[in-house]
Amino acid sequence: MRKIRQSQKLRNVRYDVRGPILVEAQRLEAEGHRILKLNIGNPAPFGFEAPEAILADVTHHLPESQGYSDSQGIYSARTAVAQYYQSRGLRETEVEDVFIGNGVSELISMVLQAFLDDGNEILVPAPDYPLWTGAVTLSGGTPVHYRCDEENGWMPDLDDIESKITENTHGLVIINPNNPTGAVYSKEMVAALVDIARRHQLVVFADEIYEKILFDDAVHHHAAEAAGSDVLCLTFSGLSKAYRVCGYRAGWVMISGPKEIAEEFLEGLTLIANMRMCANVPAQHAIQTALGGYQSINELIVPGGRFYEQSMLADRLLNEIPGVTSVRPRGALYCFPRLDPAVYPIENDEQFVIELLRAKKILVTHGTGFNWPEPDHFRLVTLPDVDVLEEAIGRIADFLATRR
Ligand code: PLP
Repeated sequence: MRKIRQSQKLRNVRYDVRGPILVEAQRLEAEGHRILKLNIGNPAPFGFEAPEAILADVTHHLPESQGYSDSQGIYSARTAVAQYYQSRGLRETEVEDVFIGNGVSELISMVLQAFLDDGNEILVPAPDYPLWTGAVTLSGGTPVHYRCDEENGWMPDLDDIESKITENTHGLVIINPNNPTGAVYSKEMVAALVDIARRHQLVVFADEIYEKILFDDAVHHHAAEAAGSDVLCLTFSGLSKAYRVCGYRAGWVMISGPKEIAEEFLEGLTLIANMRMCANVPAQHAIQTALGGYQSINELIVPGGRFYEQSMLADRLLNEIPGVTSVRPRGALYCFPRLDPAVYPIENDEQFVIELLRAKKILVTHGTGFNWPEPDHFRLVTLPDVDVLEEAIGRIADFLATRR
């Protein structure tokens, strides 16, 4: 019989966070091992709960959420998102500018499908959240990676970006706060990135899902603000992280700038939104409550709060391991440490992660899974309680000691 193969479109698409490393973890679990999974930024399994008002709202609206909604999203959610950006200084934002989706993930794919022709180049950070690279590729585009500089707090290398722009470049992806590095960009850096887009007529795709997870004096600056009225900017965010409801699948994209030049693209985006009917309706009801209600996230990100304490502890303990250096995260839910190749000569970091998993029953994600070019990093999710994190990083340190 003829073999059923996957489509050629998937040839270069990777999403390693849930790839072979997870399959191996699940195999070990089936054998009876307990695996500490630090590969996915999903707060709920680590004892985080959504604000009560969000749960109450979703439950309350279940009976009236049985039908499809408007493809762009329910009016109250879109209004809440528009008002949120207005209150953040983006006063031009209108309800029509907001599309609600099943998480930011769905919207990234939808937007890129509507935007890209075969071979169009999009500048994507390295390291990146790998859905961006995968979704650009799946949409027929070519991801071109620009380097973020570890020695400069993982700031984007502006010269590298400039040097990679061709007449085929159509967009610039900015992930701020960044996954996996935890970097948060200054106002000047956001302005400089957007200015590149302005000069080369690129569309800005600003993934700001961690905008409320900021430590110490870090401040988030919306790319849309720098983009103003003359750079088309698509801003992505949602409830998964700050409101701890990854499973609800509630996110949005807000379009700003010269929409009059983007009419055809927006018609295409509307067509794609229509084809998938709508986002999960009960979760859409959570958006208004989340954005309008008490922001309990603010308790988690200050000293004494879990997100803060766990991030700082992980950073400190990782840096104590010989041959390991980690840039202190300024936001988000991750550390992205470097393993000095002179101390740990790793050829294949996915294999390294699998060996760590088998030996110590801890699952992290290899750096090349985030399109980092060298096999010398891994990403650790900082969601477990401090005791569990201490134990986990201790086990990683023990494993590394056997490799020196
Ligand atoms: N963007 C970034 C940078 C992320 O880290 C994630 C999830 O980890 C997403 C988007 C996807 O979020 P959502 O749950 O809204 O699909």
